[in-house]
Amino acid sequence: MTNAELFDRAKAVLPGGVNSPVRAFLSVGGTPYFVERASGSKVWDSEGNEYLDFVQSYGASILGHADPVAVAAVQQAALEGTTFGAPTRKEVELAELVCSWVPGLEMVRMTSSGTEAAMSAIRLARGATGRDKVVKFAGCYHGHTDSLLAAGGSGVANQGLVGSVGVPEAAVADTVVVPYNVVPTLDEDTAVLAIEPVAANMGVVQPEPGFLEACRAECDRVGALLLFDEVITGFRLGRGGATSWSGVQPDVWAFGKVIGGGLPVGMFGGSREVMGHVAPLGPVYQGGTLSGNPLATAAGLAVLGQLDDDRYEELTATATTLATGLRNAMESAGVAVQVPQVGPLVGIFFTDEAVRNYDDAKAAADTGIYPRFFHGMLERGIALAPGAYEAIFPSLSHSAEDIARAVDAAAEVGATLAE
Ligand SMILES: *Cc1c(COP(=O)(O)O)cnc(C)c1O
Repeated sequence: MTNAELFDRAKAVLPGGVNSPVRAFLSVGGTPYFVERASGSKVWDSEGNEYLDFVQSYGASILGHADPVAVAAVQQAALEGTTFGAPTRKEVELAELVCSWVPGLEMVRMTSSGTEAAMSAIRLARGATGRDKVVKFAGCYHGHTDSLLAAGGSGVANQGLVGSVGVPEAAVADTVVVPYNVVPTLDEDTAVLAIEPVAANMGVVQPEPGFLEACRAECDRVGALLLFDEVITGFRLGRGGATSWSGVQPDVWAFGKVIGGGLPVGMFGGSREVMGHVAPLGPVYQGGTLSGNPLATAAGLAVLGQLDDDRYEELTATATTLATGLRNAMESAGVAVQVPQVGPLVGIFFTDEAVRNYDDAKAAADTGIYPRFFHGMLERGIALAPGAYEAIFPSLSHSAEDIARAVDAAAEVGATLAE
């Protein structure tokens, strides 16, 4: 069956033919490829086309697709039962592992998605402080919770919506949106300052030196909690995520993506004291039928268990080769480009101005070059995210040949962009 036929069928029964808006290709145009199967750095679509995949489920698959150890762990877990409504050993093991890796993290609660993790972290911060106000940065995405969707970057940005229809004014009445890389002045009504410590949902935007430290100090000044949304940076920048990378410790964390080893998982956490507010220890209610799911914890343990400092160095080296190659390819072609890189995280903006915040990212996206770059790469068998606000995700399965192929393709595409 062709991608176009599947897309027609999908559109009859799924809004836009998809289960998450960015997948519909609206911002780049054309027909999405429907994935039939994947392995390592590659995916194959319903027509049998092969793509070198830099989407990797928006970073959820850090080892690449269908890692054999993770697959075996999930198969074994499935044989033993997929959900119980009772605690399991693997939840304890995953929580212990994560708490041993992230400095300052002492207790966690598992959820089934990053959205739930961020949503619950906000509730916890409000419950722990007895305050309502949430301050977030424009272009940072924290999932599709009502109160966090304002100026949300990522898919929200691709749709050209500020937040969403269906979110009542009241839900965002206590949300304040401020520009990234400018330290906000908080007041004593502020429960929490939420941030992606390295922003990766408006393209990749680095925190400037001292910015995270100053956010920490400002939270301390008014008694607000600092929330690191590490759904992308967690277990990608390194074992200790952006917390180790920056040396700045938040009060609450949200995790997702990598931590589930490719299965639906999220997690929020904090110090023992902060997490003491979470039910049943405290009055902040949070729960989930499938939370701490045995398949997801098995996959998470199997993936995280293969990550050590050497693997992160390897992934960073791959990312550096890719970023350097993309930059050189565009510059040789005379195409204005910024290729920000933070360890294993890579982004691309078609502009000659440095990108510091969401307005800069939008200006770069508005040049309209990304969709042409995207389709040029896709025609050459290289799959990037179908939106200008997403990061590029090399995995540990991407070989030197894979990266060289992607860079060669970018050089060819660059030549067509300059025309
Ligand atoms: C992806 C993402 C989320 C939401 O996670 P889902 O699993 O898609 O619900 C939240 N925060 C950040 C930083 C993300 O990148």
